[in-house]
Amino acid sequence: MDEDIIIGSGPAGAAAAEALLDRGRRVRMLDVGETLEPAREAVRLSLAGAKPAAWDAGALDDFKRARPAAKTDTMRPYGSDFPFRDAVDFFGPEGRPDWLFLKPSFALGGLSNGWGASVLPYREEDISDWPAAARALAAHYAAVAAFVPIAANPDPLEALFPMLSISDDRSLPLTSQGQAALARLEKRRERLAARGLHFGRARQAVEASGCERCGLCLYGCPYRLIFSAKSHVERLVRERGLDYRPGAEAVRILEGSSGVTVATRDPRSGETAEHRGARVFVGAGVLPTARLMLASLGAEGKAVRLKDSTHFFVPMLHAWAPRPDPVAEPRHTLTQLYLEILDAAVNARTVHFQVYAYNDHYAEDMRARFGRLAPLAEPLIAAMSRRLMVAQGFLHSDSSPEIEIRLAGGAEPRLAFALRRNEETGPAIARAVRKLAPLVVPSGLLPLLPLVRPAEVGSSYHCGGTFPMREAPSGLESDPLGRPAGLKRVHIVDASVFPSVPATTITLTVMANAHRIASAAPAP
Ligand SMILES: Cc1cc2nc3c(=O)[nH]c(=O)nc-3n(C[C@H](O)[C@H](O)[C@H](O)COP(=O)(O)OP(=O)(O)OC[C@H]3O[C@@H](n4cnc5c(N)ncnc54)[C@H](O)[C@@H]3O)c2cc1C
Repeated sequence: MDEDIIIGSGPAGAAAAEALLDRGRRVRMLDVGETLEPAREAVRLSLAGAKPAAWDAGALDDFKRARPAAKTDTMRPYGSDFPFRDAVDFFGPEGRPDWLFLKPSFALGGLSNGWGASVLPYREEDISDWPAAARALAAHYAAVAAFVPIAANPDPLEALFPMLSISDDRSLPLTSQGQAALARLEKRRERLAARGLHFGRARQAVEASGCERCGLCLYGCPYRLIFSAKSHVERLVRERGLDYRPGAEAVRILEGSSGVTVATRDPRSGETAEHRGARVFVGAGVLPTARLMLASLGAEGKAVRLKDSTHFFVPMLHAWAPRPDPVAEPRHTLTQLYLEILDAAVNARTVHFQVYAYNDHYAEDMRARFGRLAPLAEPLIAAMSRRLMVAQGFLHSDSSPEIEIRLAGGAEPRLAFALRRNEETGPAIARAVRKLAPLVVPSGLLPLLPLVRPAEVGSSYHCGGTFPMREAPSGLESDPLGRPAGLKRVHIVDASVFPSVPATTITLTVMANAHRIASAAPAP
């Protein structure tokens, strides 16, 4: 049998497909495959067909209309909820627990339809608990960077993150706020490094050369310059013969001596089918993968632990005058800068910050906080939102809560969730903020300490570790090729197999690891 099966069309599935097609395999990709509604796509196209200066104000308003609320996970790209639409009734009648902010995606392209596009490789020091084979990611970061555009420039961050080398300047232009902050930090670089704070320009999965600086990144790039696995999968279908099958929710995997069988169900019609292949690569995203694997392994009653990389917000006002006016300035609204704390007294692992400059959600969020007093506070809101920069901090999973997941009983395989708090999370955030604040104040960034707040469990979407890779796996652990103990032809390729989740961005490593597994999986 020369055909392999991939489950899921998100970043993990797309990277696995790339590697398998490179090996000359025929590949069938099974996906639920939700897409943007045609009416919303039409609005996007009407903007994409022109430069921002020529945009019709009505079309722009329509595009922005369904803007997200303040929470990061309620991003509505192009005004649609399609990346988060629960097309398969995943949570059932009980719904998602109210403390759990992680949601599955059932879209073509998965969560990469509405992500922040921040990309960094992991530091080897942060994955010292991974099996040696799984840590050998450098070649696979390079392979992924060959098909994912990475907006970056060679800078001192490279010394910290040597697994991905950046040879030329393909960065997104910083906004004036980003430039000013970087220049001010730059003056103190050596002193800051000596005290454990390192920094550089943010790196994003964006085709920077086409950026019109229209400020719509957080609404969905009208020009589709932000990488989404959707575009990549569509290209693999067009150019390399990937057999993409939407409307196919994988519900069970059965491994036999000569191949695998994946049972699917069409969520709309209820129609069922069976797909046979030599091997299967599971990239359904951590929650759907947990359900599929627990059901397929007959693991009723057994629990797995999902590790979160907790995040928190540090709002900062900048001391310098906001000139030019950030509201009117052409800009992108993705992360501007990365700050990294490397100090064992703060955390045994890297603490990572992503610094955002002005975006038009700031004033709206402040208005929402002021409530009925917002009209009176308008001058204050206008002044503060123009000086606000928000550092979003991330901790390694060692310092973060875990989510216990097991199969609940009943006719439909549903998941039951229990929160396992980590007593270390609060103190670890406090230590990181206490470290950061005095180091950035001399550069004119004034953290608003009373407004520092942790985000909800799972809302970073940097989660994994349910079927962790081990040198010698047992129980529900996986081997370094993502195979749960006992299986030979079933490889999990999403973050479910990460033994731990470092603070730096997750998706580039999800893709590199999927690429590594699909490249190294033994030939059938
Ligand atoms: C608001 C937001 C911002 C983010 N920002 C960043 C960031 O800046 N940097 C970063 O590194 N990461 C970020 N992330 C996280 C990033 O999006 C995920 O890490 C990434 O998408 C995971 O890829 P995946 O392929 O494993 O899963 P997903 O993207 O979840 O894709 C899962 C795929 O599997 C399919 N599927 C699910 N169940 C089944 C089934 N049973 N059968 C068949 N198909 C199935 C779905 O249709 C989908 O195609 C962000 C996420 C969000 C929501």
